[in-house]
Amino acid sequence: MSQKADIALIGLAVMGQNLILNMDSHGFVVCAYNRTVDKVTQFLNNEAKGTKVIGATSLQDMVNKLKTPRKIMMLVKAGSAVDDFIKQLTPLLSPGDLIIDGGNSEYQDTTRRCDELKKQGFLFVGSGVSGGEEGARYGPSLMPGGHKEAWPLIKDIFQSISAKADNEPCCEWVGEGGAGHFVKMVHNGIEYGDMQLICEAYDLMKGLGMTQSEMAKEMDEWNKGELDSFLIEITRDILNYKDDKGYLLERIRDTAGQKGTGKWTAIAALHYGVPVTLIGEAVFSRCLSALKDERVNASKHLKGPERKITVQNKAEFLTHIKHALYCAKIVSYAQGFMLMREAAKEFNWKLNYGGIALMWRGGCIIRSVFLGNIKEAFERNPELSNLLLDDFFKDAIKRCQESWRQVVSHSVLWGVPVPALSAALAFYDGYRTDRLPANLLQAQRDFFGAHTYELLGQEGKFVHTNWTGTG
Ligand code: NAP
Repeated sequence: MSQKADIALIGLAVMGQNLILNMDSHGFVVCAYNRTVDKVTQFLNNEAKGTKVIGATSLQDMVNKLKTPRKIMMLVKAGSAVDDFIKQLTPLLSPGDLIIDGGNSEYQDTTRRCDELKKQGFLFVGSGVSGGEEGARYGPSLMPGGHKEAWPLIKDIFQSISAKADNEPCCEWVGEGGAGHFVKMVHNGIEYGDMQLICEAYDLMKGLGMTQSEMAKEMDEWNKGELDSFLIEITRDILNYKDDKGYLLERIRDTAGQKGTGKWTAIAALHYGVPVTLIGEAVFSRCLSALKDERVNASKHLKGPERKITVQNKAEFLTHIKHALYCAKIVSYAQGFMLMREAAKEFNWKLNYGGIALMWRGGCIIRSVFLGNIKEAFERNPELSNLLLDDFFKDAIKRCQESWRQVVSHSVLWGVPVPALSAALAFYDGYRTDRLPANLLQAQRDFFGAHTYELLGQEGKFVHTNWTGTG
């Protein structure tokens, strides 16, 4: 009898292939399967040649080749493909077998699949996988959630193949139901925010008249300090990149696409009533960028400052930009963690926020030194209600906020759009304000809609005034 596989992996596109090779490198025997079965043979004869990977010609063949309880991981297009495979698999499985969805599924779908499969006696895990192709091959960040009983079955495989940060795996059990995919969704939203912030910094640097090489040098410096991160590093490399026609970046169309996870984060923020403004602005900035034809037309008609950026001390202003980016990034992560905290309340998840920061510390697109600081903040105080209240981040903002205000106010005067930098500052000022003008809002709502209002000192008691009558 030939050797049985430890795990099966369905989906031989870029993520699936690389995860299989990663598992194989860590000593696990993987059975590979794909809807288009020809790709299995191609994979075995090429990328997986010389490995212990075995292939399956059908789902039944794959199921027969697995050790029990069976562990089957899918890396297929999110959506109906996942449901289709689940439907085909369940008649072939035994109670206690485990299906894992490693794609970018919506967390509500994962919650539904958990419920449906539990009723049928199967285990289900929805796991965020981050880090793209390279991460999948050499160590992704993995965010598994779903049926807790499944965790001991996959812990060894998942923690072996994941990235490591500070010698710890960037993979830990996240929580029940859709928790893993929710955390992955917030991760992707934060990624949108980080990218937008860097784009705004780049736009300001361009406005300062810097060459790409100068910008790249600046990013390289930033990457040696508190902004040390994968995204700053690749931005430096993009700025430096030349082909036979010269620098490539300036020849790229200024319209950005999106696959949806940033939008889902913004939708979740609205749904749970959490002001995740920076990620929202990052999503809208991509939408605005996509209106290229309208923007080109509007640029001929709508007047404003001529984007003439003049500063007395360029080096000083660059430091201001760096500090502004840092402050806004702190706000963005604070907002992302606020969203996770609210969802955790809703779904009764016991999220380990320091553990989440550690999972994102390595392997994934937002990996950075900064996430180590977040992990430490939650280690100092696991009950920390908001990252902004941690001493380290409080001090960082105290130290850098004058720069942040300089950059936002100058950008407004110059007519340079900085939606993420300014939304973050507006949030910061709102969050630290004990009395906002929402008293007037309550009054307005009561005036036109008899929605009632609360008086100070009498919270919970709602009264109505006939605003057009006599007092
Ligand atoms: P993908 O392009 O999203 O999906 C291709 C795979 O899905 C192929 O195996 C394909 O099978 C299968 N598939 C597509 N439609 C199907 C259907 N209706 N029924 C059955 N199978 C179907 O592949 P990927 O880029 O490797 O990503 C896999 C998953 O990981 C996705 O959910 C993606 O969002 C997520 N993810 C991707 C990245 C990344 O950097 N690419 C990073 C993190 C997470 P055929 O070969 O038969 O067409």
